[in-house]
Amino acid sequence: MSYLVLARKYRPQNFEEVVRQEHITRALANALTSDRLAHAILLAGPRGTGKTTIARILAKCVNCETGPTATPCNTCRSCREITGGHAADVFEIDGASNNRVENIRELRENANYMPAHSRFKIYIIDEVHMLSDSAFNALLKILEEPPAHVKFFFATTDPNKIPITILSRCQRHDCRRVDLTAIVQHLARLCENETVEITEDALTLIGREADGSIRDALSLLDLIITGATGKITAELVLDVLGGLDRQSLFDISQAVFDRDAGKIIDIIARLYDRGQNMIKLFAEVLTHFRNLLVVKMGGTSQALSDVSEYELNAIKAQVSDISQVYLHQILDVLFKEEIVIRQSSSPRLALEMAFVRIIQIRPALPIDTLIEKIDILQKNLAKNLPLAPPPAATQEAIKSPAPAPPAPAGPESRPAPAPKQPAPKQLTPKQLKPEQLKPAPEVPECPNQAPDPAAGPAPPPPRPENNAKKTEPLETSWKNIICRIAEENPALAACFSTSKMVKTGDGHVEIRFATNKFNVTYANRDGHQALIQKTCSLYFSDDIQVSLAGTAAASRNGLANKQKSKQLEAEALNHPLVADAMRIFNGKIVDIKILQEA
Ligand SMILES: [Zn+2]
Repeated sequence: MSYLVLARKYRPQNFEEVVRQEHITRALANALTSDRLAHAILLAGPRGTGKTTIARILAKCVNCETGPTATPCNTCRSCREITGGHAADVFEIDGASNNRVENIRELRENANYMPAHSRFKIYIIDEVHMLSDSAFNALLKILEEPPAHVKFFFATTDPNKIPITILSRCQRHDCRRVDLTAIVQHLARLCENETVEITEDALTLIGREADGSIRDALSLLDLIITGATGKITAELVLDVLGGLDRQSLFDISQAVFDRDAGKIIDIIARLYDRGQNMIKLFAEVLTHFRNLLVVKMGGTSQALSDVSEYELNAIKAQVSDISQVYLHQILDVLFKEEIVIRQSSSPRLALEMAFVRIIQIRPALPIDTLIEKIDILQKNLAKNLPLAPPPAATQEAIKSPAPAPPAPAGPESRPAPAPKQPAPKQLTPKQLKPEQLKPAPEVPECPNQAPDPAAGPAPPPPRPENNAKKTEPLETSWKNIICRIAEENPALAACFSTSKMVKTGDGHVEIRFATNKFNVTYANRDGHQALIQKTCSLYFSDDIQVSLAGTAAASRNGLANKQKSKQLEAEALNHPLVADAMRIFNGKIVDIKILQEA
């Protein structure tokens, strides 16, 4: 007795047995029972998802002696002939090899004759998109006015290649990719019928390899059963597939996070020796990092259809202390390298180099950390280093033969010692600071400090006497306080450019912001709150209570929230410090992270 491959042995013989295409089988069954089946039906979808199978079942449905019915009997002559593939009135045509106009002309002539003994003459054209233009034109003729005894069932993996004139005359049904769980369940049932012992891991590996195609899954299972003695395990499947186990992917991502290039190259070498296709490995790595990002963004297992619960937990553990921005950066490089790897004559080498590049990525800092760093930088520059002249002056200096002070450069040259030639007398650091580091200074001018860049070093703002404080308007006090804050933290002071201080009770003042949420959030950070409180206490008295308004008013509805986030992002982008950061580090904005408000 000849061996019948699983895919043929277990080919569905009625709509119920079709895996995961209920949306199509239900619609077709309804059309059959209400006698509204179209004369041309197009089944589109990935390979191995059941298009031809559905077409054959449909042929049985319309030609069954008990029909037309949604549940063919599978015992009558017509049903048996269709199952056996030798029905006189059902023509299965491969569009790829019969794609010429002559083939379709022949079909048209043949279609004019009445069926031999069935209700309908049925033409099942597989891969119909392969027909030539003239063949499509010939087909169009008969689709426009089909004889009443003819039905066309088309199957295609690429419906976009079918002319619109043909598409518009067909009723189109799209087959879904079969998900991993459905494939695994289907395989498990088959193995039980065949009394094949197989582990769940092995089934999952086969299912994943099949990539949504039931037929591929069955062919693989066939291959593995043939080569196996005893229980089928994941190791055995890997041996047959020559493939990639999921653990290797996790090892690769971990090595990326650990910046261990040697380990990655070892893993690639091991997989290469096992016969793993490097382009396929790249695709798997890309999907794996995509999954890591999706989980990091809070995605559920629904967004990761091919990931088991166990793997989901492993992913969660792996990304717990990896930033989303860093994952974005990795994926960016992977996408950029994709074309190189695909087109390379040595994909293994290209893949290794891609990982070397990924390992060289420096994880981007969140913008708040960056701002903090710039704060420190600004302070240090202001305190210790005579500053280089502003860019315009630098250019002039470069043109002139006179020795020029060093131009502002990248972060590497920042800690360089002060230039040897003395800085121009009148340009002291403190006065240069506003023009140099803040193209658009936001710190309000201190009322007690006449801004005169040509004068000598500015005297520290005079501290008002206590009785003066009692009489001066709160507005003036607030300006003075901002000036003092600016001495310690210029960026924080910049946040108060649109704020005002309001007395809200005995010994209690509140700082209110106009609109800028970014500023509110920034001022609310722990260290900053403490500095504000400390400066106010020094200015007024120790028992003054300072609060920041507008912070607890977190928006309550989702839409408003979104708009605010957008506004916040725009404000962050336009913040002078961000501009400074981009200029100083010659950087670009990769991501904007909105911090949870306190
Ligand atoms: Zn029948």
